Amino acid sequence: MTIIDGKKVAQNIREELKSKIDVLVENNEKVPGLVAVLVGNDPASQVYVNMKKKKCDELGMHSKVDLYDASISEEELLKVVDKYNNDPNFHGILVQLPLPDHIDEDKIIDSISPSKDVDGFHPVNVGKMLIGKEAFYPATPSGVIELIKAYDIETKGKHVVVIGRSNIVGKPVAGMLVQKQAGANAIVTICHSAAQDITYYTKQADIIIAAMGRAEFVKEDMVKDGVVIIDVGTNRVDDSSAKKGYRIVGDVDFENVSNKASFITPVPGGVGPMTIAMLLKNTYKAFQLIENKN
Ligand code: NAP
Repeated sequence: MTIIDGKKVAQNIREELKSKIDVLVENNEKVPGLVAVLVGNDPASQVYVNMKKKKCDELGMHSKVDLYDASISEEELLKVVDKYNNDPNFHGILVQLPLPDHIDEDKIIDSISPSKDVDGFHPVNVGKMLIGKEAFYPATPSGVIELIKAYDIETKGKHVVVIGRSNIVGKPVAGMLVQKQAGANAIVTICHSAAQDITYYTKQADIIIAAMGRAEFVKEDMVKDGVVIIDVGTNRVDDSSAKKGYRIVGDVDFENVSNKASFITPVPGGVGPMTIAMLLKNTYKAFQLIENKN
């Protein structure tokens, strides 16, 4: 059994990007820029956004967190996005979700220029992804695909069972894996809460991608020998022995399922670190496209 080291794969991606940005800096050229628009003071969102900025800074990218009070109107926020759509110093724009209830998230995402939509949430990018065209693909599903590739795990003709159908993980990862192309070409089943007997599906899976948000839901008796497990889940469970009073676990019972798996991602340290790395990669790609760089 191999434990998939997401930290290492993510680090390799960041190092590759850094060496490219170092060259731009040495030549006094413009560098990729990412702006994160944050509305309100949700602690988890603040942590995510600050982490993204820190990673951008480490690579030598230009980055900014633009913070607004939760009372900002939808109209004002649309103007903010429009400003960055037209700002040549920012090649990537992300609006941290969730937004306050009085703001229509879809409307805000739709207002981001698809060429700067490094989160890959704009319908134009989602549509292109689904028909297998070049586009910005969302970071977490791209991170899943990248891990599978990094460990030379065969997907062609394999049965992948995705648990979860969210627009940010389940649906896009399924859409990417079903494409008739290298690194995909899988037979994909998507499970969700309407599945009557989820074990019926998971037992048939060569690869399970768990993205449901249910702590340690996938148990040893639900999988077959040699299964590949990609665990996207990030769940807090109480743990009085931990310093913070809780620990983070995935959607898969790692300790027991790892007895049967051929490959498995840990939580933390699996898919998590890949998400930011793929966001940075998308930002670099936006920079290349906008600035006509190779
Ligand atoms: P979400 O929007 O809450 O979607 C969860 C999906 O799981 C839904 O489609 C839901 O079905 C399905 N589901 C829930 N309980 C189920 C059950 N008992 N049986 C079958 N399906 C069930 O979650 P998400 O945003 O996709 O995130 C999923 C997990 O990944 C969360 O733990 C989240 O924290 C984590 N995550 C991690 C990263 C990362 O960077 N590592 C990034 C994003 C998300 P219905 O559609 O029928 O409700």
